[in-house]
Amino acid sequence: MRRVIANGEVFVEGERRPLDLVIEGESITALLARGTGPTDAEVIDANGLVALPGAVDVHMHTREPGYTHKEDLITCTRAAAAGGYTTIFGMPNVDPPTMTTEDLDATLELYREKSIVDYNHNPAAKLLDQIAAMADRGIAAYKIFMVVDTGRTYPHPSAIGVHEHGELYEMMKEIAKTDLRLMVHPHDQSLMDVVEQSYWAAGDRSPWAYGKTLAAEDGMIWDTATGTLLRLAEATGCKLHIVHTQTARQIEMIEDARQRGVDVSAETNHWTIFLGTEEDIKEQGSYVLSYYVPPHHQQAVWDALRNGSIDMVASDHAPHTREEKEVGWTDAWAAHTGTPGIQDQLPLLLDAVHEGKLSLARCVDLTSAAPARIFNIDKKGSLAPGSDADIVLVDLGRPWTITNEAVESKIGWTPYHGRSGTGSVVRTLVRGTDVYANGEVTGLPGHGKQVTLR
Ligand SMILES: [Zn+2]
Repeated sequence: MRRVIANGEVFVEGERRPLDLVIEGESITALLARGTGPTDAEVIDANGLVALPGAVDVHMHTREPGYTHKEDLITCTRAAAAGGYTTIFGMPNVDPPTMTTEDLDATLELYREKSIVDYNHNPAAKLLDQIAAMADRGIAAYKIFMVVDTGRTYPHPSAIGVHEHGELYEMMKEIAKTDLRLMVHPHDQSLMDVVEQSYWAAGDRSPWAYGKTLAAEDGMIWDTATGTLLRLAEATGCKLHIVHTQTARQIEMIEDARQRGVDVSAETNHWTIFLGTEEDIKEQGSYVLSYYVPPHHQQAVWDALRNGSIDMVASDHAPHTREEKEVGWTDAWAAHTGTPGIQDQLPLLLDAVHEGKLSLARCVDLTSAAPARIFNIDKKGSLAPGSDADIVLVDLGRPWTITNEAVESKIGWTPYHGRSGTGSVVRTLVRGTDVYANGEVTGLPGHGKQVTLR
């Protein structure tokens, strides 16, 4: 099958160009001057639209297997398609948590049957004797978190958490041998245990108390953990990926480590820049995750997104039911943390482009080129000939309003309900096949393939 995306612009080599894009089968085969493409091809009229590389989300909580009352691999990849995402990486906090080759094989089989977009899955690097064997399954990274859930048992099951520096050190030495990257949610639980006592003693378990706890001492819970991780990465040579980069000090430490040759990539998430204010937390409570990002840190994150200190924006898509969130009004520690976002993230970032807060080139790098480059994903993150035809057609001038009614995720709500902006996802293709067009998800379960590494 041959298709031509004609009459629009194509984002290639860092800029928009008036080109026609030729797709043969699953690949992009040529970029040609407008009107000079093959005449026997199906034409997709992109007049007024810009073709961007399909977005790549390396941090997504699919909830399957085990938590399919929240989300499953069909619903979350429908949300991805509608949001312009053509590749996703799932996380290991499913049930059974992904720690062994057996768990990993079974989980990857579920993706094969159900995923609409391309995928990979990051297992937890918890069992040292499983690390090398899991690498053979074609994974791109491992994931671990340093959080302990107090007052709840999810989304951070203790089986796949790591809370001792010695254990982290052993783990990173083992991962270094695979040359894959370790993604870590940095967190200092010992400090959190102390800080939260001051609120609990006063009987305050509100979302705002939770937010202030996480942000205590200008972000020390994040910063001390990040410092430890960077030092261990330097000691072991393990490639490191810091998720939830959200303080000025984290950014400084990451830049400093890079100067010393540490291979560290940094990720922030939509909620850091679009949902982390005091007002958001007081209005929406646990629905917005309730990680408080004070204005000066939010500013530092925006600066880092513009100057490249932060490499990518990942969704950390983390759906939970309303019931699991409502309890947060009386006890935020009991509410499952996390908020959905994969369907809304790219429009929110395109709105930031429209507002002049971010260049389109940085937006594309943050959402597709950088994740593909840093996680070594083959044929993704670019519209150059030879790449997979993973394409998102966007209308940079089309306004949007986000509503719960349009949510593809099983939970049926979004923290952005009612928010408006400019810059819309119009159509999404995965390897040349439409998975989203004209407001409808058209991709079929099983279309997605596990991505390969370069
Ligand atoms: Zn996460």
